[in-house]
Amino acid sequence: MAPTVQGASTSIATSAPASPWTSSTIPTVVKNATAAQMPRTTWTRDEVQQVYETPLSQLTHAAAIVHRRFHDPAAIQMCTLMNIKTGGCSEDCSYCAQSSRYNTGLKATRLSPVEEVLQAARVAKENGSTRFCMGAAWRDMRGRKTSLKNIKEMVTGVRSMGMEVCVTLGMIDTEQAKELKDAGLTAYNHNLDTSREYYPSIITSRSYDERLQTLSNVRDAGINVCSGGILGLGEADSDRIGLLHTVATLPSHPESFPVNALVPIKGTPLGDRKMISFDKLLRTIATARIVLPATIVRLAAGRVNLSEEQQVTCFMAGANAVFTGEKMLTTDCNGWDQDHEMFRKWGFYPMKSFENEEVKGEKSAVVIESDSGMVAATI
Ligand code: SF4
Repeated sequence: MAPTVQGASTSIATSAPASPWTSSTIPTVVKNATAAQMPRTTWTRDEVQQVYETPLSQLTHAAAIVHRRFHDPAAIQMCTLMNIKTGGCSEDCSYCAQSSRYNTGLKATRLSPVEEVLQAARVAKENGSTRFCMGAAWRDMRGRKTSLKNIKEMVTGVRSMGMEVCVTLGMIDTEQAKELKDAGLTAYNHNLDTSREYYPSIITSRSYDERLQTLSNVRDAGINVCSGGILGLGEADSDRIGLLHTVATLPSHPESFPVNALVPIKGTPLGDRKMISFDKLLRTIATARIVLPATIVRLAAGRVNLSEEQQVTCFMAGANAVFTGEKMLTTDCNGWDQDHEMFRKWGFYPMKSFENEEVKGEKSAVVIESDSGMVAATI
């Protein structure tokens, strides 16, 4: 019989703690994922589905364990995303205010001057952002030699400030990717948005395979891939699972996985959609943390509609980056002061530039095992 500490009306067992996985509803694939030492790209769709469908309280607990193994759970990266060329885009992405096919009242602009962009990056850095992302609303980089030259100057300038630098410029080929890499680019964002099956309901002007080809060109140039999704497009759970399965089985996992909650824009085909429910958002983030353990999971568009407590719940389930600033492309964004105050209150701190790469290098430092042999926690 286990020794006990007797109190007036209670008795407390002092034997070794039980396995954290006492519930029979935890799939083996989740238990195994919490013990994994390395990311793997061999996930089957059925395994991703099993993770996604784990009871939410257990799923977030498992995600928190994985998060502690691969990252400092107190570090949240602040990124700022600037629109360097607004509107007038030829593509038909059903959610986007910048498509020229929809009447959203947005005024199209030319590419911003280099110095204006560098000044915005300085302001972002002074306020604590360590990653600066620049987005241009167009289909691809074909025939944009002057723009590419200017964007390379922006990339080199931001990188010289010691910040991580990311761009999102639509489809690019291998040569353009190489030029951006040589200019100092850290990461390239190109979202897959949703599952392969649901994608044609959202975009018809370019294919899923074209998006995957751009990711391949970026990866081959040695640039980190940033690729995620948008939730609340009318997709089903199976589409969120499909998206997660696609990114988890790329030749290497994206360095960054942004999770956007659709912000409906009047005038677009999805302008009347309701926001994704919080439990689905949280489930997607926790599943992403488990199947992409070393990746930065970014709480992206739509964060402005989450309460502080909901945001913190996402951080505890594995999200470890936010977009902060005055605007996030065309949508509102939480400001730096607000985020600093939230971090202070809840015990988070802003991640340093390139910190994730340092932390990943030290991730196997401490492993604590439970009596069942499962990893219960790491530091
Ligand atoms: S390619 Fe980008 S800017 Fe153009 S419509 Fe699609 S999301 Fe909007």
